[in-house]
Amino acid sequence: LRYYSHYPLSKSITLPNGKVYEQPTGLFINGEFVASQQHKTFEVINPSNEDEICHVYEARTEDVDAAVDAAYNAFHSEWSKMDPSIRGEHLMKLAELMEKNKDTLAAIESMDNGKALFMAEIDVKLVINYLKYCAGWADKLFGKVVDTGSNYFNYIKREPIGVCGQIIPWNFPLLMWSWKVGPALAAGNTIVLKTAESTPLSALYAAKLAKEAGIPDGVINIVSGFGKITGEAISTHPKIKKLAFTGSTATGKHIMKAAAESNLKKVTLELGGKSPNIVFNDADIKKAVNNLILGIFFNSGEVCCAGSRVFIQEGVYDQVLEEFKIAAEALKVGNPFEEGVFQGAQTSQQQLTKILGYVESGKDEGATLVTGGERLGDKGYFVKPTIFADVKPNMKIYSEEIFGPFAVVTKFKTADEAIAMANDSEYGLAAGIHTTSLDTATYVANNLEAGTVWINTYNDFHHNMPFGGFKQSGIGREMGEAAFENYTQWKTVRIAINDGPQ
Ligand code: NAD
Repeated sequence: LRYYSHYPLSKSITLPNGKVYEQPTGLFINGEFVASQQHKTFEVINPSNEDEICHVYEARTEDVDAAVDAAYNAFHSEWSKMDPSIRGEHLMKLAELMEKNKDTLAAIESMDNGKALFMAEIDVKLVINYLKYCAGWADKLFGKVVDTGSNYFNYIKREPIGVCGQIIPWNFPLLMWSWKVGPALAAGNTIVLKTAESTPLSALYAAKLAKEAGIPDGVINIVSGFGKITGEAISTHPKIKKLAFTGSTATGKHIMKAAAESNLKKVTLELGGKSPNIVFNDADIKKAVNNLILGIFFNSGEVCCAGSRVFIQEGVYDQVLEEFKIAAEALKVGNPFEEGVFQGAQTSQQQLTKILGYVESGKDEGATLVTGGERLGDKGYFVKPTIFADVKPNMKIYSEEIFGPFAVVTKFKTADEAIAMANDSEYGLAAGIHTTSLDTATYVANNLEAGTVWINTYNDFHHNMPFGGFKQSGIGREMGEAAFENYTQWKTVRIAINDGPQ
């Protein structure tokens, strides 16, 4: 990476659709875009053409300290104490501004991450819906009166936790921003959020909109930077009381240790997966194949809950594999802004190299390459939709998270065998079942070790339903009512009235 010592705090950028917009490049601290204290910046690359988009300022420890101080002051001065319905109004205003700017937000996301534009448009819609949902919760996080007999009056109430540190990945930069910021703010917390180093742009633009929405200074602080410096400064910070992380299981473990050793922050983690997508003999084959495609090629396969392990029952194995191959080969891969493109670029050179490494590993270990398995073109990080068959549990491609458009296919005979194969993983984020039998669907769903089970659908989210992992796929839940458990703590108040009136 190249470093500049001085860089403008905003840059005029021409999007791939020809529109021009102003991209903030500073750190967003205490309601202002500022240069980092050491004036260092890093480069942001468009993964579709490998061109530099701009630089952004890089936060170091001292910048994280400033962001935490701002968040701490905002928490104690106003935000945590106000009528919660006003916090709801702020979030609603932000959602409305996002609606007004939805085309720009989607285009920024697609340019920065590489995902197909129509997928970025779906992300922005989900972001707006989720912020509105959180706005609605702000004044409904009720406590309770608890009866323990007539000599006491007891109540329990939910209180915000304080300054929350949030570390997000690059696969859904804006959506992860909303999953973190929405519930934290609704519940009265303030935040310091670090974006992933490869995709900092949409979060900074969203911060600009948050300022326009009138969210008080210091409530939202956004720091661009790298895991080992900025991320480490957040996870070890003594004034941060809660940490929410989405990313790899390895980093999640490291962060949890750092959080425990510094000040025992409360930690929630949304981590990796190697989710099974199971097709039974009696499935509606057309719909099942469509869900296999959505399961693994949606968002270029850069999805924590991607249906990356495909299990097909022996009676339909040949037919489903053939139709899956044909459908994968029909997907249009390329420039995310081009009409009809389903799969854009992988987010970084690092991801491209990682995926192609797994292709070699699959071949070496004796799996059958059905389709894909190579880079598309020589500019931009594009990978052909890839399917391996005859994949055995002892192969690396069967057990390790690849995070690309890369499905591994295995045959099974009985439902119990499919359940055992599905559960044979350190992960437990999601699973898909394709069958027309209610018995099969519920029997298998009840026996799978997964935080989300989709039946006759896949990668199908709703903000009203919690999402999170069993086993090493995570701790805690995002979305739904469950998200507010992460951002509030119960206070018990017990009042003795033994003496009665004097
Ligand atoms: P990562 O988990 O290392 O990065 C995610 C976030 O954590 C980024 O913001 C990063 O800067 C930050 N981070 C990294 N090291 C840190 C540290 N020591 N302290 C604090 N923060 C730190 O993931 P990656 O390196 O970008 O990708 C590697 C693999 O992780 C991918 O190939 C994929 O398998 C997986 N991944 C999973 C998800 C998910 O949603 N579950 C998201 C992204 C990546």
